[in-house]
Amino acid sequence: MELVIEDAVVVTMGPGGGTARAMLVRDGRIAAVGDPGEIRAAAGPGAQVARLDGATIVPGLIDAHCHVADIGYLAAGADCSQPSAPDIPAIQARLREAVARTPAGSWVTGSGYVEYRLREGRHPTRDDLDQAVPDRPAVLYHTSLHACVLNSAALRTAGFEDRQPDPPGGAFGRDGEGRLNGVVFEGPMFALFEQNVRDDVTRMGGAERARLMQRAGQGLAALGVTAACDADVRRDTFAAFAEADQAGALHQRVYGLVVHDHVDWLLANGLQGRHSGRLATEAVKIWADGGMSSRTAAIHGSYPVPPHGSGILFFSRDELTAMVREFDARGFQVAVHAQGDRAIETVLDAYAAVLGASGPGRNPRRHRIEHAGAMYPPLTARAAELGIVIVSQPGFLSTLGDGFAAAFPAQADQLYAFGSWQRAGLTVAGSSDAPVISAAPLLGIRDAVTRRTGSGRVLGPGEQLTAREALALYTTQAATAMHRENEIGSLQPGQLADFAVLDANPLAGDPAQITGIRVLATVVDGIPTFQAEGVLPAG
Ligand SMILES: [Zn+2]
Repeated sequence: MELVIEDAVVVTMGPGGGTARAMLVRDGRIAAVGDPGEIRAAAGPGAQVARLDGATIVPGLIDAHCHVADIGYLAAGADCSQPSAPDIPAIQARLREAVARTPAGSWVTGSGYVEYRLREGRHPTRDDLDQAVPDRPAVLYHTSLHACVLNSAALRTAGFEDRQPDPPGGAFGRDGEGRLNGVVFEGPMFALFEQNVRDDVTRMGGAERARLMQRAGQGLAALGVTAACDADVRRDTFAAFAEADQAGALHQRVYGLVVHDHVDWLLANGLQGRHSGRLATEAVKIWADGGMSSRTAAIHGSYPVPPHGSGILFFSRDELTAMVREFDARGFQVAVHAQGDRAIETVLDAYAAVLGASGPGRNPRRHRIEHAGAMYPPLTARAAELGIVIVSQPGFLSTLGDGFAAAFPAQADQLYAFGSWQRAGLTVAGSSDAPVISAAPLLGIRDAVTRRTGSGRVLGPGEQLTAREALALYTTQAATAMHRENEIGSLQPGQLADFAVLDANPLAGDPAQITGIRVLATVVDGIPTFQAEGVLPAG
């Protein structure tokens, strides 16, 4: 099994940072990268040849923090995104169609709408949803997953009443008379989503769960993604991944971050470690605080915007230290969600207590901080000294950046400080946190360079990366964040043949146009997992 790829721009992301014009793939690995002459000479007589008409090959893109199961879950519901559903009648039609395929006991589910992109320019209401789904619970998730709309049956099932005040960390939309209009923001929305996903996934049979994972994997493959860290692996989602893996239906290498209170289950069943080339559970996930756009990240000081307060810290320093110590001793990499500066400080204290004396190689398990939105310069210096790996989301900047600027008026330019992190010498991996925002790595790569919010403001011009640095977040650096830099993340002889074929080179041209680049093919282990047009032999 040999494939010669020619007439391409091969961006290797190897140590020299060079590009080549041809590549040889043999038995699922990169055998050689270089000039067409060299590559032809290295190939055997039976090799297949693909000429790519000048297309660009980059290492397979790695999403170091997303929620694969949730992506598949929402893809199974009604697509209510714009422009595909341009107005509320279109959303109603999509929800009506979804009724028949929604199992009894599950809520009819739609997702993806953005109120200001709808023709009506507003959130749909419970009345709009009641017209489409009058007699059973229905929910329509906002694309941000920070808001949703419930119909009347869902409001009743959730126990939300008109007289009820707004809960802490959340809010209800209301009509002129104070009656709930069905829109739910933040806290109660997260709880509902979590509950619905867990209930529905638990209810599914094995084959259906595998299909859910397959749908998510196909979507990610179409975006050039060849590996992903799933930031929320639990008993039920692990079963779904394992089933899909056994069926040969995983389109990515999935590196699972196992939710901390499922670790005992994992260990009792002997499931720590690598299960195959496509599935591993070597890391543990802990949440230290809330979110940035929900203004529940634990900060010093308080938010100038609702719900005010200074955020939520889920564990004390001692509790967190004990957890990190235990998981570290059991051989796990630890990944802690920490967004606010107060949470990040607490996590660094815990890591420092466990990792002990300073020096190079101080963090051999590569313990991580997920998100690190408000990791300001002194915290960055501490993280660098400890050798902590940062896994963050540049794509939040265009999608949610204006909301961050409102919540952090004084520090807005220091949020998601990719430039400072890079200069401090930290390993920083790129990711999407999808389905919170789009899973497209090209969106994150563009935003890491431009840092432009939805309204056009450049958030922290000093924190912009070059396009090459931005691509490294999703290739070499992300591979390091999952202990796989010797296998994936760059195109060098001996590495696994994971790569994406793009119709333009993201390192050349206007960075603002990077999101317009098309993914032509995505390849894992030398076999296409996605092809827009048949640019490569099917394998
Ligand atoms: Zn996440």
